[in-house]
Amino acid sequence: MPQSPVLTRRSVLAASGGLVVGSAVLPQLGPTPAVAQGQGGGLSRTVTVGSFSVVTLLDGARNVPDPQSIFGMNVSEDEFAEVSANNFLPIDQARFFFTPTLVDTGSEVVLFDTGNGGTNGNLPAALADAGYTPEDVTIVVITHMHPDHIGGLMAGGSAAFPNARYITGSTEFDFWTGDNAPAQLAEMIGGSVVPLADQMTFLEDGGSVTSGITAVAAFGHTPGHMTYMIESDGAQLMLIADLANHYVWSLAYPDWEVRFDADKAAAAASRRQVLGMLATDRIPFVGYHMPFPALGYVEANGDGFRYVPQSYQFDL
Ligand SMILES: [Zn+2]
Repeated sequence: MPQSPVLTRRSVLAASGGLVVGSAVLPQLGPTPAVAQGQGGGLSRTVTVGSFSVVTLLDGARNVPDPQSIFGMNVSEDEFAEVSANNFLPIDQARFFFTPTLVDTGSEVVLFDTGNGGTNGNLPAALADAGYTPEDVTIVVITHMHPDHIGGLMAGGSAAFPNARYITGSTEFDFWTGDNAPAQLAEMIGGSVVPLADQMTFLEDGGSVTSGITAVAAFGHTPGHMTYMIESDGAQLMLIADLANHYVWSLAYPDWEVRFDADKAAAAASRRQVLGMLATDRIPFVGYHMPFPALGYVEANGDGFRYVPQSYQFDL
């Protein structure tokens, strides 16, 4: 059934004077508006940060065998097994989550990363679950240019978010379009990112996406990987993208080497710096690969950090 334009979230917001929030416009949701707003329909989770809505969107999840071929490459099998057992985690496989996040500031609808795209991506369904359409998105931010973040930029050969402009880090863009980029991924970026470059704004560390959203460089995972601080009415939340890709094997052990980190020492240093700041200032965060809804807190614990998943803090 074609979706009527009058049912888009932005027009609903405009018509209601902004009183309809979160997923409460969706008819299939739970018994009370407060719960419905927080729970979504399974593919999205909407929370409030100041006057902003922040929506985590489940693009997909998949099971991956032999996780020590990815995490803890520089520790022994015994240490990996012991840490995993202590945290009730199997070592024969792990589950990877993919979580683009939308921030609705009231004047811009900002989508951070676009998921896997194609048949591997559920982002359009997750957006619909939260009451948004691809046409609602006014800015697409690319945190870094790995396939699971840029895969959904294009759909059927044209821009998947037709009304959006684009923002990414200048260091990241320059690397992947330069001579030192790995050929296979550079080719994918040439097909999906480069065609949008004339609608793209490039940020340095500290650059602003829009009022209340600031880039924070966290290089290492890729040469120009960026995280983003969200700030509204004194409330903060950080989107850490791929700064830490597992809630135990990366957060609790920041120095464990990760196959996908391009510069392993720089990635570890970025983890310690950003996670340390989140722990000290008690700022909640969204991690792109954290277990959905990918939203939690971090506390300093020994030589690393402990992940504290959110429960109902955002619903009170
Ligand atoms: Zn990723």
